[in-house]
Parts: sequence; structure tokens; C-alpha cells
Amino acid sequence: MALKQGDKIGILGGGQLAQLLIKAANKLGLKTLVFDPNEDSPAFNIATEFICEPFSNQKALESFSKKSDIVTYEFENIPLATIDIITPHCKVSPNREALKIGQNRLLEKAFINQLGINTARYSQISSKKELLEFCKLTASKSIIKTTTSGYDGKGQVVIEPGKINTAAIEIIENTECIVEEFQEFHSEASIIASRGESGSVLTYDSGANLHKDGILINTTVPSKLPKELEIEMALIAGKILNNLDYIGVMGIEFFVTSQGLILNEFAPRVHNSGHWTLDGCLINQFEQHIRAISGWPLGSTNRHSNIVMTNIIGEKITTDIKENQSIYSYGKKEIRAGRKMGHINTIHE
Ligand code: AMP
Repeated sequence: MALKQGDKIGILGGGQLAQLLIKAANKLGLKTLVFDPNEDSPAFNIATEFICEPFSNQKALESFSKKSDIVTYEFENIPLATIDIITPHCKVSPNREALKIGQNRLLEKAFINQLGINTARYSQISSKKELLEFCKLTASKSIIKTTTSGYDGKGQVVIEPGKINTAAIEIIENTECIVEEFQEFHSEASIIASRGESGSVLTYDSGANLHKDGILINTTVPSKLPKELEIEMALIAGKILNNLDYIGVMGIEFFVTSQGLILNEFAPRVHNSGHWTLDGCLINQFEQHIRAISGWPLGSTNRHSNIVMTNIIGEKITTDIKENQSIYSYGKKEIRAGRKMGHINTIHE
């Protein structure tokens, strides 16, 4: 059933993505309730209500779900046990299966491959012994990643063939990992896709992404990729969303290589590389997500402007902005290296 004016959306996670979802929900006449264990959560400042408790607090989660008309999440590392406490009381969108696959690189790659979509070749590594064996045998440059909980390049180290790397050993000593073949890509790209309750899928134009040390620096649209690749990304997105019976917005990242598109990962949520839609489209990714999970019809994903979205990372928000720039500050108190403080959308020719 579609949400109506004044209904409440529960959001797990209180970072900048939640903040931007709240702004979209407010615009549509919906209320919000944010749940996050961190008392400095940027989204607390603008949510209708918030609950600051650990994701394991059953009583607080039950109260959260009973107060919400639909629950969604802003990041994929929400424990599945948290979702299981909520579901008897309130529907969660995107669904549990999408979250389960999206938070585990092994499940994700197996799922993607089974749909006939290419990923980097990979293997599971569970111990230091297996890692040392792998390093001895592999002839190609690889990258080790934690199977779960990685984001913004955290928990990742490049391994040169034949070399044993202490940082990689440190990672494997603490957690399950995968190693995947390092991709000598021409560029990186992503597509933001949405699926509504009716099963209709709409994608935004793909963006060209630049990362440094695993963190997104900027996204440019149009991506200037060949039309065939843009279409292939949209078809891949449709396949994934339909297979998961997904409702909401998803970000899907690719490497563009001489062998074609290699899917890196998908995020079952709104995505940093979709922030350009805030100034490039009538209906941005945040509003689209709210519309989808509320059971409303999806909005147009047409792009009316060319945009470069630039993240503001580990530095103060600048006031030195130009006429053609729109700035977003997440209102974070503490500036830390690698921390996303805001972003700027620049309209270009
Ligand atoms: P991820 O956390 O998997 O999204 O990785 C973050 C970034 O690290 C990517 O956007 C790439 O820039 C880089 N990266 C990750 N995996 C690979 C790979 N297999 N080959 C080359 N670069 C990679």
C-alpha cells in the first residue's frame, strides 16, 4: 500500500545519505525517524525524530519499527539480525536478500556471475597460510579486500605478484577476505538504477568516476562512454534489480576495460556517484528512492544539465563557490582525513 501524507519513513543509519533522503521525504510531505548508534549522526539534525541506540538493541528497534510505516537503510553494513528484528513489525525496502548479497563480496560476485555478468576473477582467502600460498602462485597483480564491512577503500591492499605484503597479512589475520585480479581499467563508471513496486525499472545516465585510494573523488556526466556501454550498463542494472525483486535505488560500479565492462560492486542504496542527480535531473536519486519505497510511481530520470560532482574530503567546506556551482555541506563537526564533508555540483557546458 502506498504511503500517504504524514506517514513516517524509518531510516537505518544517520550519515549524509540519510540526510539527503530526509530532505527528499520532507519535500514529499513524509516524516522520518532515523536510527543510528552514533550521537553525532549528521541526519539527527534534520530528522523528524531519531533514536540513538546500538543496532543490537532489540527493544529500541521494535519501537523504531512500530513507529515507521516503511523502513529503509542508507548503508549496506547494517547487521542482518537488525533487519530480522524489524521485519515482523514493518516492511524493509530494499529487501533482506539484496542487503545480504550487497554486504558480502563473495555472495555478490557469485550472484553477479550466475546472472552471466562479468566480475574480476576472485578467490576466497581465509587464513594467512592461504594468502602466502596465493602470493607464491599468482602471476598477476591482485587486490585483497575484506569480504564484508569494507567501504571507501578501507580494508583493501594491492598485492604485487610474488611479493608478500605486511598490510595484506594484517588484514587476513583479522577477517575473512577475497583476493581479486587487479583490473588495468581505462576508466571507472557507475549507473544509478531504480525499481518501483510495479516492477518498472528506470536508470539515470551513467557517470564517469575518478577514485583515489579507493575513495570517490568526482563523477562526471555525461560519461562520454560509447552508447553501447551505456546501454549495456542499463541492461545489467535491469537484470540485477529484477532478479532481486528490488524496490528502491541502487548504485552499480563498473571497470571499463579492453575486455568490456567488469562489474565491481553494487550498493543496495542511494550512492555517492549519484549525487549529480541533485542538480542534473528533475527527480534526483533520493526522491526516486523515497518514491519507490513509498509505493509511489517513479519519476523521470532524464538529465537536463551536464554536471561534475566533486566530493569535499577531509577538509573544511569552502565558501569560495562559483555561480554555476551548488554546494552541499553534511554538517559534520569533526574533519578527518578521508572523511566526506560535503560535495559540490558544477554545471558545465
Ligand atoms: P571497492 O571498495 O571495491 O568499490 O573499491 C574501491 C576502488 O578501488 C575502486 O573504485 C577502484 O578504484 C579500486 N579497485 C577496487 N578493486 C579493484 C580491482 N580489482 N582492480 C583495480 N582497482 C580496483
